[in-house]
Amino acid sequence: MASVIKGLSKLCIHTQTTKPWSLQECVTNYSKAGVKAITIWRNVLEGINLNEAKKILDDADMKVVSLCRGGFFPSVDSKRRNEAIDDNLLAIEQAAAIGAPLIVLVCGSDSRQPLETSREQIKEGILKILPAAEAAGVKLAIEPLHPMYAADRSAVNTLQQATDMADEIGSPFVGVALDVYHLWWDNNLEREIKRCGHNGHLFAFHICDWKVPTTDMLLDRGMMGEGCVNIRQIRGWVEDTGFTGFNEVEIFSSTYWEQDQEQLLHKVINAYLHHS
Ligand code: ZN
Repeated sequence: MASVIKGLSKLCIHTQTTKPWSLQECVTNYSKAGVKAITIWRNVLEGINLNEAKKILDDADMKVVSLCRGGFFPSVDSKRRNEAIDDNLLAIEQAAAIGAPLIVLVCGSDSRQPLETSREQIKEGILKILPAAEAAGVKLAIEPLHPMYAADRSAVNTLQQATDMADEIGSPFVGVALDVYHLWWDNNLEREIKRCGHNGHLFAFHICDWKVPTTDMLLDRGMMGEGCVNIRQIRGWVEDTGFTGFNEVEIFSSTYWEQDQEQLLHKVINAYLHHS
């Protein structure tokens, strides 16, 4: 048991992995299973007071790794772009209130305009919210998404693009969240992880697996070991940069959400110990 607990010291679970659970249920059950860190999806904060959320986390001595998610900056419509800024400012307030040191940005994309324009608007959006993030002591992580989402969820699709953008912005508060699901296929991944880490931008590491076949673009992620991603190799490259952060399990799966969530949690822990 002691060695299992030690093996879990770098494990963080995203609340979205056990989506049917409330924040209280996530915290209670993760804690009971020996998981000491959590990434909070904003949906679990709906309908509860932020002080109450902080108390739930503190009472269980649960470390918050990040808040998911901000972003969705680009739009052909300037009104929508302004609304996105407001929503990101709200996310910064929420993160500060619950003690989350980092917000993950799913940057967005609008297919009615060129990807280049969307990327410019992403950069502009980050620069607009950066003063508030710095004032709150909350960092921002650009998460490059798999190119299958380039038209509607993110115009940032490779680690190279994300690192370039963090370089251009040039703030210690802006870095990158690396998710194996989005980046495993990239033949430049090892080189780009090295560069991202060397430039001081590697803020977060997300794991799950790519199922073959994948039956849904969004909600069919696999448990570690269930697909074709060499998670250990990628984790090795990440740790070689000096990264000492958490391994965050983030599995969106309509199949897993239908199952008993306590059993699912144990599956996650087992898969983490054996396949990552
Ligand atoms: Zn992710």
